[in-house]
Amino acid sequence: METINHLVDGVTVEGTSGITKPVFNPATGAQTAELAMATVDEVDAVIASSQAAFEEWSEVSLARRTKLMFSYRNLVEKHAEDIAKLITAEHGKVLSDAMGEVARGLENIEFACGIADNLKGAYNESASTGVDVYSVRQPLGVVAGITPFNFPAMVPLWMIPNALACGNTFILKPSERDPSGPMLIAELAQEAGFPPGVLNVVNGDKVAVDRLLEHPDVRAVSFVGSSPIAQYVYETGSRNGKRVQALGGAKNHMIVLPDADLDLAADAAVSAAYGSAGERCMAISVVVAVGEIADPLVDAIKVRMEKLTIGDGTDPASEMGPIITGEARDRIADYVQQGVDAGASAVVDGREASFDNDGFFIGVTLLDNVTPDMTVYQDEIFGPVLSVVRSDSYQEAVDLIASNRWGNGAAIFTRDGGAARQFQRDADAGMVGINVPIPVPVGYHSFGGWKDSLFGDTTMYGPEGVKFYTKAKVITSRWPDPSTSTVNLGFPTND
Ligand code: NAD
Repeated sequence: METINHLVDGVTVEGTSGITKPVFNPATGAQTAELAMATVDEVDAVIASSQAAFEEWSEVSLARRTKLMFSYRNLVEKHAEDIAKLITAEHGKVLSDAMGEVARGLENIEFACGIADNLKGAYNESASTGVDVYSVRQPLGVVAGITPFNFPAMVPLWMIPNALACGNTFILKPSERDPSGPMLIAELAQEAGFPPGVLNVVNGDKVAVDRLLEHPDVRAVSFVGSSPIAQYVYETGSRNGKRVQALGGAKNHMIVLPDADLDLAADAAVSAAYGSAGERCMAISVVVAVGEIADPLVDAIKVRMEKLTIGDGTDPASEMGPIITGEARDRIADYVQQGVDAGASAVVDGREASFDNDGFFIGVTLLDNVTPDMTVYQDEIFGPVLSVVRSDSYQEAVDLIASNRWGNGAAIFTRDGGAARQFQRDADAGMVGINVPIPVPVGYHSFGGWKDSLFGDTTMYGPEGVKFYTKAKVITSRWPDPSTSTVNLGFPTND
């Protein structure tokens, strides 16, 4: 059985704790590797390596950093399929989806290739006579990233490129579920020429995370995961004086107005609810059908669901893969039962699908007549379960989004420009889609939700990422009147 270890100073470092966690292929249910869990001492050693590397890395020119980032970009692109295959093998998502994940990650490396432009300060000449005022942004030091299972390559790439380009050193603590994709990404950074220690990877669980949150040499922490852990990371890191951005869970609504293009809305609902088995923080989990479109919309979604092919993500015919673990699959099935018990109608019940292997599979579920008091509405299920809430008016639908505890993404489907424009103003969420179900911003904007979907005040990647990974310094300088200069500047003198 392969053991996956840590990556420190550019080389693999074997874990010494003797504690490991199993890594599975969710499509077969078989264990494929074991992952070393770091101790406090091991985490300290990684932080010491990152701190030592920071001394030199922070002095490396923008030209050199940019050049390395371009090499990194090319290597990740060259190895996109290798990364995607590792993701499919440990996460389960279908290969085309995993390739899409790598492509979205690449956008962030490409953004960081333009770091010189983004690190330009501001300058005011002659704020007062002989006085200039200007600002620069400087790196923080050692920064850490703690990432979730559902985007094992993309989420680390939301963080690593900007953090390094800004002159920091970075420690990645990937999810225990699917560590091989992130390990390859880190190895490619070594191959690209980033000096040893600039990007380290430590594998582990709460022990490792807690040490990163406590250690005084870690200056900032980026976290993406579930809301309870996001809140814990935010509070603990902040209490220890760190800058923290912690992105949490979600419950994303898609409002469908009566005038919407029915086929467009049904296609979007199916791909956004069941793509990656619903294990996306931007997945649509609630369709709010306004008025008379509800019946035809539910029918149109059902027809499409019946055509979905669920299977091993390596099979090109598969459109949806398994769930990350057997426990997660059982939890999803339990939620479906809770919905039915509470009075929702199971238009399609994913528990009825059968699979002839030991993988962590479940079928797709569509629950109609869901009401906001039901657990299927209130909780983040994080699986292929779509709830339909029927609403009498646009205002009622918008109020529903506003009263939900999460505010990651929200979408509207309509042909009416005025309604769409009103929704972009009304939607109580950080990312809004208009006839787009999953409005993940491109790499040159920034990603983050509102309410319980984000703890902290800086969103991730793009310009906000650069801001998060740098501290501002403002310089006020005074030079004497040029006529008094000791260098001959051509001014008339009194001699
Ligand atoms: P998770 O919260 O269980 O784990 C995330 C990370 O936290 C992992 O690295 C894990 O090792 C660590 N962790 C887990 N328990 C911990 C504890 N008690 N103390 C310290 N660290 C701990 O999340 P997950 O199941 O891997 O990912 C799915 C969740 O992530 C969903 O809730 C999803 O909505 C969310 N997510 C959010 C976004 C976003 O951008 N808002 C993006 C992707 C995923």
